[in-house]
Amino acid sequence: MLTNQAAAAGLDNDTSWTALYEEEADVHGDYVTEVRNAVEYGLNDPRDSAEMACVAAEVADASVKALLSEWSLYNPAGRCDRRLRAPGPASQQRRRPDRACARGRPDRRAREAELPAPAGPGQPANLADALATLQKVANTVNGLVDRHASTTVRALHAAPSTAVLPDNAHETVVAAATLLAKQCDQKVTLNRRHPDETYEDDGSGFGCGCDVTIAAGAEEFNFHRGDSEWVLTRESDGREEPGGVTAFSTWATLSSTLKTAHPQQLVDDILGVVAADRT
Ligand SMILES: [Zn+2]
Repeated sequence: MLTNQAAAAGLDNDTSWTALYEEEADVHGDYVTEVRNAVEYGLNDPRDSAEMACVAAEVADASVKALLSEWSLYNPAGRCDRRLRAPGPASQQRRRPDRACARGRPDRRAREAELPAPAGPGQPANLADALATLQKVANTVNGLVDRHASTTVRALHAAPSTAVLPDNAHETVVAAATLLAKQCDQKVTLNRRHPDETYEDDGSGFGCGCDVTIAAGAEEFNFHRGDSEWVLTRESDGREEPGGVTAFSTWATLSSTLKTAHPQQLVDDILGVVAADRT
């Protein structure tokens, strides 16, 4: 948990709040490291979005559970002060002691820091104002989730898909070639290596063997599926090897690795690489 370093931290209005937990996260940050690695690797397609959304939901729930522990914010001065529990019938407090205790915890921490009176109008916000604002925002978010989350998720889940999207790597190549032919001012050629209906995903991570060439002036690009990723090679980077094979030591990796990536996302990447190469 974050330790209040008071004046030694030298906090001011320009202090990055994310920086406050970075040191702690580096020491005890197995979970944080996983997320940071994912972010560093790249979050570029719907699968990444869904996975991060699931992580966020899981973390939010886990955070509540962690904070409900009476010792979650260890305070040498004592345990949670029962007097700081939310007001209500005694029977209600007995049924929900942890939640009542959690509500009182910010006050307890504030009390340790000698909570000042709220600042007056026009005055810089102080700790009391900050706590009140956080509590207000938390209540708003919790209220929104309670009222709308279930209905919204159900509606989204039931919404019909109107987009015609590829079902496998071959269909992705074909769809990307079709879009490229419309959106690229250069000659685009789909090189089919098999009949459409004969492709079966062997699970190897490589594609179907089909590729797309884009003639861009004196250069030619080739779009295809490499080892579990979509790549774009430049002909001039190729090196002839014995047996007539052309090898590449450099290529552009496109932003989505999904076999069924949205073809337009791939086309956007391809057009960006081609345009950058021509400038
Ligand atoms: Zn194919």
